[in-house]
Amino acid sequence: MTSSPKPADATAPEKNDFIRQIIREDLASGKHAAVRTRFPPEPNGYLHIGHAKSICLNFGIGREFGGPVNLRFDDTNPAREDPEYVEAIKEDVRWLGFEWAELRHASDYFEVFYRSALKLVQDGKAYVCDLDAEQVRAYRGTLTEPGRNSPFRDRSVAENLDLFTRMRAGEFPDGARTLRAKIDMASGNINLRDPAIYRIKHVEHQNTGNAWPIYPMYDYAHCLSDALEGITHSLCTLEFEDHRPLYDWFVDHVDLPRNPDLYQPLLDAGLDAPVAKPRQIEFSRLNINYTVMSKRKLLALVGEGLVSGWDDPRMPTLQGLRRRGCPPAALRLLADRVGISKQNSLIDFSVLEGCIRETLDAAAPRRMGVVDPLKLVITNLDEGHAETIRFSNHPKDPSFGEREVPFSPVLWIEREDFMEVPPKGFHRLVPGGEVRLRGVGIVRCTDVVKEGDAVVAVHCTLDPDSRAGLPGADRKVKGTIHWVAAATAVPAELRLYDRLFTVPDPDQDEGGKTYRDYMNPDSVRVVRGYVEPSAAALQPEQALQFERLGFFVADRHDHRADRPVFNRAVTLRDNWAGKAGG
Ligand code: ATP
Ligand code: MG
Repeated sequence: MTSSPKPADATAPEKNDFIRQIIREDLASGKHAAVRTRFPPEPNGYLHIGHAKSICLNFGIGREFGGPVNLRFDDTNPAREDPEYVEAIKEDVRWLGFEWAELRHASDYFEVFYRSALKLVQDGKAYVCDLDAEQVRAYRGTLTEPGRNSPFRDRSVAENLDLFTRMRAGEFPDGARTLRAKIDMASGNINLRDPAIYRIKHVEHQNTGNAWPIYPMYDYAHCLSDALEGITHSLCTLEFEDHRPLYDWFVDHVDLPRNPDLYQPLLDAGLDAPVAKPRQIEFSRLNINYTVMSKRKLLALVGEGLVSGWDDPRMPTLQGLRRRGCPPAALRLLADRVGISKQNSLIDFSVLEGCIRETLDAAAPRRMGVVDPLKLVITNLDEGHAETIRFSNHPKDPSFGEREVPFSPVLWIEREDFMEVPPKGFHRLVPGGEVRLRGVGIVRCTDVVKEGDAVVAVHCTLDPDSRAGLPGADRKVKGTIHWVAAATAVPAELRLYDRLFTVPDPDQDEGGKTYRDYMNPDSVRVVRGYVEPSAAALQPEQALQFERLGFFVADRHDHRADRPVFNRAVTLRDNWAGKAGG
């Protein structure tokens, strides 16, 4: 049965988009006693954030209406598919917080599809056509002109049966023949102009090996797979709207519920076949600016070495987002926020960043780290002075507890928190000025140590009366800065990520330019900094906020306590708001 994440949204209002309305009506009218949905990825690439929308919709409906949700690999195109993708997709769905009722493959049904096709042939509803791909195109007509019948359309049932069984036996070379549905070459909907059902492809399949020299087309396999799994509501994106009449044509003409002999091989193999008449419903895709989303483009980014791989933290893949430190709850929040409709829209990247920020603000413990270290020496403490200071791990949630942060007179502070010649309105440390060291007290800068023009250290005195717990602790100074004690600081690699592209629509392909011309040169900056020991000790994939720097995650592959690596998922504020084109 479906199990689901501990929903952060358990108290959220009931969702009521048009798909859920249809489901409620179908349940209320008794059309269906229960709902079943599925998520049907093609294992030809890694899942991306658009797929997350579909996963959250299908599995979300399963959870809300108590129906099973299948994960079905739509593996009808063996040339582009790979077991590597199959494993990654399973991992991604689970990471998003969902569990499928049953794992299926379109290829589990190859025998049923074949028997169903034989039935269509016997019923005079399908024929073997010898036109090649180019001829098929020429006969198909256009949006304004009807197509012409194939010269092979009127083959006898006996001849079609003979040729189709020989196709299946592997007698003919790739592309020599197709099996086509006999529908209507004059239809206003081009999808209904005798679409192909089977093509010949002598290609090894990742699930069925060399058992099949013919493979079913998507439009034929998808609807029958839905029917065989008892899927009641087959949810897909809008580009399939024009395919719906074909979906219904196959469902009606094969009529699996009335032909159990067609799916007997499934039952023999011990597979449950709760056949039903499914209904396809389309919703709009999720599109996000400042990124590219189709698997083809993502594959190109990886292939051309423009990113480090499918899980590069700048990629909109689920593996990339995960590595970046985007928690699954942020993607579920995004899916809720974007909602379900038939209107195509472009979501601003900042909406995703906002979801990450909001989720991590509640979920991430606080730590201190410095990305661009400048030495600060407190001269009025003993050189050997060492103490620990208690910090709460979360400003708003005491359940995160407290930790001990080591403090001693030599500290690392952020270079940008000191300015020798400050501009107006600079409220941090300046020569002769004061600033609060977070959790410690107020320091005054007495000396600036330079090598040539470069500032290498600042010397300060700590006001002893300003220390926590003392009456002077509340004394007002304008700025508060973070720090890490040099004696105990752990050197860390900090990977600072930003958007992969500099323009909202890198896909525009205008004036001879392509997405390659819009790569953001600052999309990753790797720096060496310092972090407090309790940050280094976090487990890989643990999220945290480095105070004032942003939300980070301990890299799931490279982080080790003695060699920490943190990725910045998102800054604390939206740095892109108001930027040109932003
Ligand atoms: P792409 O075009 O990016 O390669 P796809 O549609 O070919 O993606 P599939 O593996 O066929 O990828 O998709 C599995 C499911 O996810 C389908 O039901 C599809 O409609 C849905 N899906 C894919 N992209 C999006 C998106 N951007 N928004 C919402 N749903 C999506
Ligand atoms: Mg697809």
